[in-house]
Amino acid sequence: MSNTVFKRTKILATVGPATHSPEKIQAIMEAGVNGFRINFSHGGEPDRLEQISWIRESSEKLGKPVAILQDLQGPKIRLGILKDNMLNVKHGDILTLDSSLKEHDGGMTLPVQFNLAEKMKVGEPLYMFDGKIRSVVTEIPSSTAVRVEIQNDGFLMSRKGLNLPDTDFGGDILSQKDIEDLEWGAGQDFDYVALSFVQTAGDIIDLRARLAALGSNAHIVSKIETKSAIRPENLEEIIRVSDGVMVARGDLAVEAGAEVVPVVQRRIIALCRKHGKLGIVATQMMGSMVDNPEPTRAEISDVANAVIQGADTVMLSDETANGKYPVETVKAMRSAIMYTQEHSEVMAVDKGEARQRTDAAISYSAVRLAQDINAQAIIAETSSGATAVNIAAFRPNLPIISVTDHQTTAQKLALNYATRSYVRPSGFESAGKLAEELKAEGYFSGEPVTVVLVSGHSPGKPGTTNNIQVRVI
Ligand code: PGA
Ligand code: MN
Repeated sequence: MSNTVFKRTKILATVGPATHSPEKIQAIMEAGVNGFRINFSHGGEPDRLEQISWIRESSEKLGKPVAILQDLQGPKIRLGILKDNMLNVKHGDILTLDSSLKEHDGGMTLPVQFNLAEKMKVGEPLYMFDGKIRSVVTEIPSSTAVRVEIQNDGFLMSRKGLNLPDTDFGGDILSQKDIEDLEWGAGQDFDYVALSFVQTAGDIIDLRARLAALGSNAHIVSKIETKSAIRPENLEEIIRVSDGVMVARGDLAVEAGAEVVPVVQRRIIALCRKHGKLGIVATQMMGSMVDNPEPTRAEISDVANAVIQGADTVMLSDETANGKYPVETVKAMRSAIMYTQEHSEVMAVDKGEARQRTDAAISYSAVRLAQDINAQAIIAETSSGATAVNIAAFRPNLPIISVTDHQTTAQKLALNYATRSYVRPSGFESAGKLAEELKAEGYFSGEPVTVVLVSGHSPGKPGTTNNIQVRVI
């Protein structure tokens, strides 16, 4: 891959029925996908095992490291199965949602997959069917049920999601299913674990302890989709303790109001860049392409704005999981990214605090230097990936080529801005050798080729980066 076609903003695609074959996985990878999300709200173990092995096989075949993200359901609560799959409701109706109910008889008591009575209080709002039906809790009639009053006309369907925007989960957001999924995931090749409906930093600290106990070194992505998470006293702290953050705009719009989302998106991406964390923008970026072969102008604009704000990654959900045009969607997203990166600049953000840390300061200097002398790439020797992440945090307008001795580091870095990784044995000269190799392969253009090398005096040891060198090849 020559650097003239190097896409700096990455694409994370959700796998599902529409991409459930080795050919489809390879096709969207070739079209520009850098990472795959396996959504643990749907599907079962046999599908997941196939998906993981197809992704790794295609990745090896194409010589392109990609990340796999395990997306835990968290307290994503769903209705159970309704009789005839549907129920009409009217303003003023009283419904009972009972987790002990086995079967719905068509009446006003509905099965639900979570014991709402444990967490909810009278007066709290309960939204159903992605916010289409709004209600308020009026009574807790038993230890397994809540009773609500419906506030608008409409209908409900089986398995549709519920949102509890004002309910405090008291630091206990992992379900038994999440804990089992985590245990299973620790034995698989996942690079990231994403947690849905994070409320406070404590949720992430708890998850990190569980991952450590399971011997997993997966990085943690916090999904920001609750009113609690976007409160100023929680948001920056959540970002600090996470490795990455997803602006989970679907549920966030239901819980906090759609008008809140664009502003919060900008704030989150800016905070990720300030703290050197992975920033992902998710949900309905190319939503109309679930059914149509062309995106809308608004969707292109949405992708372009995420690029300009400096997101590391933009995500596809239904478009690649259930849509009719997964490959076309990735291609359209890719061309929106490419045009924007070539004709616009990434917005400036405050990096003041980060620049005072030595590792970040080295990275900042490398980026400034590379841009000032028109270098063709920054080549970073990185074992844990931290050096490359720190460089990426400054959003250079040139490729960051990372050389690592760990395949798992290369996979994780697949989602970071402008980063492309090569797995090589560690050693002081690894980065320089790779630069020569890439030149011989025709990766660079023109003669001579100038690159900036970043390395440490103890290669392989994280946190020892202290060397910046300009090399003319
Ligand atoms: P989900 O998360 O697709 O798992 O619900 C993303 C979102 O809510 O936007
Ligand atoms: Mn969500």
